[in-house]
Amino acid sequence: MAVTMEQLVALAKHRGFIFPGSDIYGGLANTWDYGPLGAELKNNIKRAWWQKFIHESPFNVGLDTAILMNRQVWVASGHVGNFNDPMVDCRSCKARHRADKLIEEALAARGEERVVDGMPFPEMDRLIAELNIACPDCGAHDFTPVRQFNMMFRTFQGVTEDASNEIFLRPETAQGIFVNFKHVMRTMRKKLPFGIGQVGKSFRNEITPGNFTFRTREFEQMELEFFCEPGEDVRWFEYWRQFCYDWVRSIGLREENLRLRDHAKEQLSHYSKATTDVEYKFPFGWGELLGVANRTDYDLSQHQQYSHEDFQVTVEGKEPFIPYCIEPSIGVDRLLLAVFADAYEEQALEDGDIRTVLHFHPALAPYKAAVFPLSKKLADGAQAVWKDLISEFHVDYDDSGSIGKRYRRHDEIGTPYCITYDFQSEEDRAVTIRDRDSMDQVRVPIADLKDWLREHVRL
Ligand code: ATP
Repeated sequence: MAVTMEQLVALAKHRGFIFPGSDIYGGLANTWDYGPLGAELKNNIKRAWWQKFIHESPFNVGLDTAILMNRQVWVASGHVGNFNDPMVDCRSCKARHRADKLIEEALAARGEERVVDGMPFPEMDRLIAELNIACPDCGAHDFTPVRQFNMMFRTFQGVTEDASNEIFLRPETAQGIFVNFKHVMRTMRKKLPFGIGQVGKSFRNEITPGNFTFRTREFEQMELEFFCEPGEDVRWFEYWRQFCYDWVRSIGLREENLRLRDHAKEQLSHYSKATTDVEYKFPFGWGELLGVANRTDYDLSQHQQYSHEDFQVTVEGKEPFIPYCIEPSIGVDRLLLAVFADAYEEQALEDGDIRTVLHFHPALAPYKAAVFPLSKKLADGAQAVWKDLISEFHVDYDDSGSIGKRYRRHDEIGTPYCITYDFQSEEDRAVTIRDRDSMDQVRVPIADLKDWLREHVRL
């Protein structure tokens, strides 16, 4: 049976993955806090990205830039002028909605799958009337005309709240990379092609957040800006498109829940020559997991124009040029939600029992293993095993309840290996390892345990 959002939200909350934000004060709409296990899972996802996209890449280096930036950055990037979503207000209950999403949902209800993003506003107005769309909040059919809404969060730097002090929370991490392009190229002695990646928070004042952590106003991104010569951009775009797809497969997402969607020309952002989304089949339907865009020389050209810095690169035998840029951009929270949904299973066992299991890839699992003493009398030996492992792996120690109960508890949080220290362990210096997915057991000498785990939990 396919997992529902209700099941995911409930398990996430009850097992310490994700809690509603500001809960004791009645919450703050669409904010979420990652609990102890969620924080582990999230860190493991970010670490896996950094490993694959930065450390294992012959081209790329990492960076960590400030969230608050000079206002001119966002003027140059086009976000002050263009970072808008089409919005309508319900005249009856005053609720605000994203016009393109309302239309897409109404079309989907008629069995028509169409992307409305990028459609001219009068056309959207016409469709809202023609499809007789009702306000999802109150059911009324009376909307204002579609208009633009800038999604950047504004704040003020310093004590005076006047226009000259107005700054924005970054809506993407990419611009921090572009403004540091020359510093990185020089200090790291980089030559084209090369990439700069970073992981960090971004903020967008989304009109209609929702679907748990899928769309929130504060979220994390893992972005790579990969610079190359113009003319080589199409090849590199194909390369990163495939690379991203292969990577989400390698961390465990199932093929049948993934698809690639190439954007049609009229749907492309103002700066993009080509964009492909990798979409995931969430319990609420297909949704964008990540995007790969060919941003051409748009960003560096804009920054050259506004900052008067020279962003041209010289390559032997060629006229100086501004590099092209391919951007794979992945949302950490969306990927975590996909990993969570993909891993979830309620298994009917032979004895009639139901076992809830999270089949995380061991490299992503919050705990790599849990050590159980079969009896409290065996605590010394079991604790020695546990203490030896924790210097290298995140491992739980659990001595409460029957072994069966302990297995279930760890199945439910996705611990791939449960290690039982029993009476025989005192004699043969070996332990039993039970596999979460197959429930098979193997006996492994304590002396080999670290090697065994290392082998089994890597990507
Ligand atoms: P959408 O069409 O869903 O609004 P987008 O095309 O605006 O997404 P991008 O600007 O391409 O998204 O951002 C890159 C990635 O950042 C997305 O693929 C997604 O994983 C993540 N992301 C963007 N907006 C949000 C959000 N509001 N909440 C969570 N993740 C987000």
